[in-house]
Amino acid sequence: MIKKDPLFASLKEIVGRKRLLTRDRDTEPYRRGYREGYGPALAVVLPSTLLEQFKVLQVCVAANVNIIMQAANTGLTGGSTPTEGIDRHTVIINISAIDTIHYLDQYDQIVALSGATLFTLENQLKTRNRTPHSVIGSSCIGASIVGGVCNNSGGALVERGSAYTEMSLYAEVNEDGDLRLVNELDIDLGTDAEEILRNLEMGNFTPEQVYQSEKKASDDQYKHHVREINSNTPARYNANPRNLYKASGCAGKLAVFAVRLNSFLAPQRKQSFFLSTHSTATLGELRRMILQQGTELPISAEYIHRDVLTLADQYAKDTVFMIKHFGTNYLPQFFRLKQYINGIIRRTKFLGNHLFDQFLYFLFKILGSKMPKVFFRLNQKYPHHLLIAAKNHGIEELQELVNQINEGKSTEEQLHLMSLSEKQATEATLLRYACASAAIQYEAVNHKTVAGLIALDIALPRNSENWFEELPQSINEKLISKLYYGHLLCHVFHQDYLVKKGEDIEQVKALLLAHCEARGAKYPAEHNVGHHYQAEPVLAQHYQTLDPTNTFNAGIGGLSKQKHYGTLKQNSPE
Ligand code: FAD
Repeated sequence: MIKKDPLFASLKEIVGRKRLLTRDRDTEPYRRGYREGYGPALAVVLPSTLLEQFKVLQVCVAANVNIIMQAANTGLTGGSTPTEGIDRHTVIINISAIDTIHYLDQYDQIVALSGATLFTLENQLKTRNRTPHSVIGSSCIGASIVGGVCNNSGGALVERGSAYTEMSLYAEVNEDGDLRLVNELDIDLGTDAEEILRNLEMGNFTPEQVYQSEKKASDDQYKHHVREINSNTPARYNANPRNLYKASGCAGKLAVFAVRLNSFLAPQRKQSFFLSTHSTATLGELRRMILQQGTELPISAEYIHRDVLTLADQYAKDTVFMIKHFGTNYLPQFFRLKQYINGIIRRTKFLGNHLFDQFLYFLFKILGSKMPKVFFRLNQKYPHHLLIAAKNHGIEELQELVNQINEGKSTEEQLHLMSLSEKQATEATLLRYACASAAIQYEAVNHKTVAGLIALDIALPRNSENWFEELPQSINEKLISKLYYGHLLCHVFHQDYLVKKGEDIEQVKALLLAHCEARGAKYPAEHNVGHHYQAEPVLAQHYQTLDPTNTFNAGIGGLSKQKHYGTLKQNSPE
């Protein structure tokens, strides 16, 4: 066994006593994932500066532990939490406290330190009439900018694709096991590690020290790529080689200190619509026409099926309520509090694991539906919805396209387009955000009838016409419910399946994945492999190149959990 005391003493010296957590009950919220992932960790360390982050890494590398880099821990596939079966102890380094954002030029680019959040970025850019590179469902619950880049996160923005940059500051462990800081930010910050990290933390650099780099600070070609609707490959997915570069898509196989990213001018005009229909074929037609003929693409186009909207209204009311009455500002704190209370309940065995979720469910049930009446009525009438935010002359273009498509069609096949007021747009967006939590809450509240939740995140080829899944009866009969939502124009879909008690979850998952493969889908599309999916060879190779000794996040993507991926004979840990 590792000698804990010297390791703990060194870590304590760097971060202080309060920022080193070693008791199981204190480390639990960091060891448990949002939807999946749970495992042991020797300690959780919470550095509050970049230099502390580096020193903690030095100590952990020397102690030969498995290192998990963790930001807001909103990952959905267990990629930011420990797992069983690692041949060493695990230490989690949570960098949420290092949350500064520096702005370059006229706010055209940003440099986000390791724990800075998308939420802060969005709000700070708003005052400069600019928008961030990425808006995801978890932006409002504190997801970090760096975590998004490391995960190649996707999200709602039609023209942006995966979170991507070729400019970052990171530490890697080379084949000899040495930790090395690498500055690829294209900002002159000095030469030795301490100087670089201090200068960056303090924003101690002049515009002359910031190089006008040729390197990409976002996937600038995606807006063309997404329009290629005759291509038989998906527009984006996690194993896509065009988005794997150092920090981008590293999934914690490097330790990232900062990323440099583009920001974007806010549109002059914006209008949201709620589009409803009975026909998936007509929705597919709209998608193709927008991507082929539209001269101004929508900002976002989020597909929501009736069943998930209904479930979100019933089971994610706490989220909806919080945002509606307190704004998104308090959501990260609310989720942390919820996790903390859930942790206490889990430890008090006689209360049962799901007591708090059940309490919230019944409390909000008394308060009634939180879905505005207009959406409630539309959801009763139509099974398929699209929440579209159009911009500039794309607003009129969209209205004309819908009129053109509706011409000569029966009412069953037509699209019903409703303009939303700003308040309605916020309410609808809120309901869309709540979709990701709906099945998780349903499973927690109905655990006596649900064997488990299988959540798939798939990317269909851009030329797929039958985008709405039809499962064979042999799979359908194993399910309580299927929930479909996602990013229609990118053809990225989230498919949550609630499996009946008594069914074999792994067997059902294998059947569902085989069905996806038969449709030409790639998975995962944007949530990354974590411990939920097997990494494709190209992604596995990327991980092994970044981290040849398997020092970081061992076991993700189904890779070996052994040091050096089991290829070298190791001395067992002390
Ligand atoms: P974490 O979960 O903490 O980490 C993510 C990965 O990055 C891990 O592999 C971790 O090891 C690595 N990492 C974190 N920090 C570092 C670092 N400093 N150095 C090296 N590696 C690091 N995802 C989407 O793509 N689109 C969505 O629309 C979306 N919606 C969501 C909605 C909800 C309600 C939830 C709960 C999740 C959603 N997600 C979505 C998934 C998740 O929020 C994203 O993957 C997000 O980018 C993770 O950010 P995080 O800060 O929580 O990172």
